[in-house]
Amino acid sequence: MATKRLFTTALVAAIGLLGGCSIVDIQEERQQGRPSGDVVTSALKDVERFWAANFGSVAEGAEFVPVQGGKFPYTENDPPPPCGGQPSEYQPNAFYCPPDDFIAWDAQQLIPELQETYGELLVGFVMAHEYGHAIQARIGPGNQPTVVLEQQADCYAGAWLADVLAGKSSAFKEVTPAQLDDTVAGMLSLRDQPGTSALAEGAHGNAFDRIRALQDGVDESVTTCAGYRTNNLPVTEVPFTTREDAASGGNLSYDDAVSALADDAQKYWQKTYPRLTGQAWADLAIQPFRAGEPPDCAQPDASAEGAAFYCPDGDFVAFDSTRLGPALHQRIGDFAIGMLLGDLFARAAQTRRSQPTRTEQGQLTVDCLAGSWTNDLLLRDPKSGLTLSPGDLDEAVQALLAFGRSTEGSGPTAFERIGAYREGTLEGLSACTD
Ligand SMILES: [Zn+2]
Repeated sequence: MATKRLFTTALVAAIGLLGGCSIVDIQEERQQGRPSGDVVTSALKDVERFWAANFGSVAEGAEFVPVQGGKFPYTENDPPPPCGGQPSEYQPNAFYCPPDDFIAWDAQQLIPELQETYGELLVGFVMAHEYGHAIQARIGPGNQPTVVLEQQADCYAGAWLADVLAGKSSAFKEVTPAQLDDTVAGMLSLRDQPGTSALAEGAHGNAFDRIRALQDGVDESVTTCAGYRTNNLPVTEVPFTTREDAASGGNLSYDDAVSALADDAQKYWQKTYPRLTGQAWADLAIQPFRAGEPPDCAQPDASAEGAAFYCPDGDFVAFDSTRLGPALHQRIGDFAIGMLLGDLFARAAQTRRSQPTRTEQGQLTVDCLAGSWTNDLLLRDPKSGLTLSPGDLDEAVQALLAFGRSTEGSGPTAFERIGAYREGTLEGLSACTD
């Protein structure tokens, strides 16, 4: 985003690897798990159980036929079988082959690494996604851009995940909020590179769109997923629109990002607060502070483990501007700062109008309101001031994962917080206040 179009290099899969700063340091001890081959086998079996029960509802009652061409783990020395007569080369990937109706996956590198870094459930998700393509081969739709088909496969995987969360899975038991958040973090590692056109061949969608599709599947059902078409799917993935944008990456310096975003947030709330309350928005004071030296505040309404907060008594927001801020900017990107400020401004707005922010629902409304500002950035005329660039929404999601996981056990999960932010981002203010 930004006047100069901020955008930072993709920090692929970074969430688990962001050590150093406490807010983003969320590396966990991972339990010694099953061998990844066993995880894949049991996941595929469970996905077939799921489809045996649900296929009829999207196929006019027809009976489900599992993949007929086989399921192939492959390695460099033992590559996947040819697909449609074309020889297959080793790639760290997983895929479904429509002409021969088989599923294959890299058992040497990709799957063990995903399991190691993000946990078994992400491996299950990848298999459920590939199986989603097998479902498409059975019932369509044809003639849809790749990005629609990919999001539909994510949505189908989400519908399977709902089954897992409901305790119906034979492969994954008692999934914890942390495992769910790890799975979302893993999806970030599987996203397209920012700047990919949604129409590009092979486009899967940015992480924001993919997580939306996944959550759609979790919240709704396979029938919702089956209805995905170009004309009913919000796709936020945008290519870079100018060459400078792509070439420079347009990354504003940390200081410029903070001031441009703070300014824009202030303007957004000047415009928005009267709509909510009929009252004018008093400019919100922002106090950046040195790490470990926060300004006095009796009862800070904390975000980011207390490294940022709204102070109800003094009616100001404050954030650690020497450690937290630069870490978010450098490790995630400029719009992580936008997420931080969006959260703080929303806390201030809610407190000023006597709404809770410290309850679970209060936090989700704060996230939704932060999203409503993103919605404003997303929809405004690109020539007027600050705008979003490719990658920004993914940065927001990464920031929420970092904030959300740090409050684990005492509030909504990152998964829920991303859902609330997404609603504000896609639907605007009315999604947060009705
Ligand atoms: Zn796919």
